[in-house]
Amino acid sequence: MLKYIISKIKKIYPDPESEKAIMGSVVYCIHHKEGCQWSDELRKLKAHLNTCKHDAVLCAAQCGAMIPRVLMQDHLRYTCARRRANCEHCHKEFSGSALEEHQGNCGHEPVYCENKCGAKVQRRHTQQHIQQHCSKRLVPCKHCGQSYTQDTVSAHGLSCGRAPVACPQRCGAGGVARADLAAHLRDHAAAAAAAALPCSFRDAGCRFKGTRQALDKHTEESCQQHLALVSALASRQARQLDSLRAAVARLSVNCSGALVWRISDWAAKMAEAKCKDGVELVSPAFYTSQYGYKLQASLFLNGNGAGEATHMSVYIKILPGEYDALLRWPFAHTVSFTLFDQSPSPDRACNIVESFVPDPTWKNFQRPSKEPDALGFGFPRFVSHEMLKKRNFIKDDVMFLRVKVDPSKIVAV
Ligand SMILES: [Zn+2]
Ligand SMILES: [Zn+2]
Ligand SMILES: [Zn+2]
Ligand SMILES: [Zn+2]
Ligand SMILES: [Zn+2]
Ligand SMILES: [Zn+2]
Ligand SMILES: [Zn+2]
Repeated sequence: MLKYIISKIKKIYPDPESEKAIMGSVVYCIHHKEGCQWSDELRKLKAHLNTCKHDAVLCAAQCGAMIPRVLMQDHLRYTCARRRANCEHCHKEFSGSALEEHQGNCGHEPVYCENKCGAKVQRRHTQQHIQQHCSKRLVPCKHCGQSYTQDTVSAHGLSCGRAPVACPQRCGAGGVARADLAAHLRDHAAAAAAAALPCSFRDAGCRFKGTRQALDKHTEESCQQHLALVSALASRQARQLDSLRAAVARLSVNCSGALVWRISDWAAKMAEAKCKDGVELVSPAFYTSQYGYKLQASLFLNGNGAGEATHMSVYIKILPGEYDALLRWPFAHTVSFTLFDQSPSPDRACNIVESFVPDPTWKNFQRPSKEPDALGFGFPRFVSHEMLKKRNFIKDDVMFLRVKVDPSKIVAV
């Protein structure tokens, strides 16, 4: 550097006199800018540079670098490739360049876990940490087998469907999976329902079911309810009976328009009629057709009115029927009474027959009110007591009287 400057000056000032003058001129050290305060004649500069602490010299350790003297100590200590130094982590001694290479690879250097768990472990232990200790390592849930980080797997276990939970019914089935618990409890309910005994008042409407023990307790505690149930059942059944009776009566009622009335125990009935006033025998009610008039015959064995004590009287009366509203009034069918002669040879039987066509002016043949007429219409002197003793009108203490209504013989009046 100095030679170069001097040669330049020589070119500019080839004259030796001038050179002498130049060499005597005062200059600053070429390292003035770096901070060297030296200043003297130019000829002394070379000597100064041999000691100028800012002038660069070859590294004392011969790494090949040019280093200002003032920085040599630092260079030799910290940056020289040929320096000797110890790794701060493993404390092994290295040359400078080897240390630079070593840094970033030292097995003893603590580094942050690459899974960002926040832990710092020595580089040589990172694999072991990641595999065995890292809180962010993936581990399988031991119930469902799904992978979770180690720090979340136990929280997952609280909701894992495959994690076993205790059955609330304490059935001892250890380890019902959480997801299966509902089905498991349904099984319990089904089994309990299947095993439950019904209350013995079940037919009365008690819905209780339970174990033998629960049932005993229930039976003891439920007297009042059971009584109420039974009483309600009895009323229900009574209503059903009523409607059944009505249905049976409807079905069994005679709708043929003809009644054959069998009067048994004739002698006893006659005896009673003779010693009491107004003894009336009434026949079963019958209809003239399915939706026709409802009629009933009555019989005074000892007679009444004009036939009292001498004749048997017979009457027909119209009862309030279910279809009266649809029927024609007054009632105008021909009615006939037949007393059968029960002769052993039917060819020679001689029945007694009386019939009448209703008089439309008679109130007996108007539509009946709810309380029907006491008597009706008929024959006070139907058959005399004398006549009854003849033939076979009474046989085996039984008399047969037919009452027949004939709608075909409607007589217009
Ligand atoms: Zn200097
Ligand atoms: Zn060096
Ligand atoms: Zn090291
Ligand atoms: Zn980690
Ligand atoms: Zn799980
Ligand atoms: Zn269970
Ligand atoms: Zn009960």
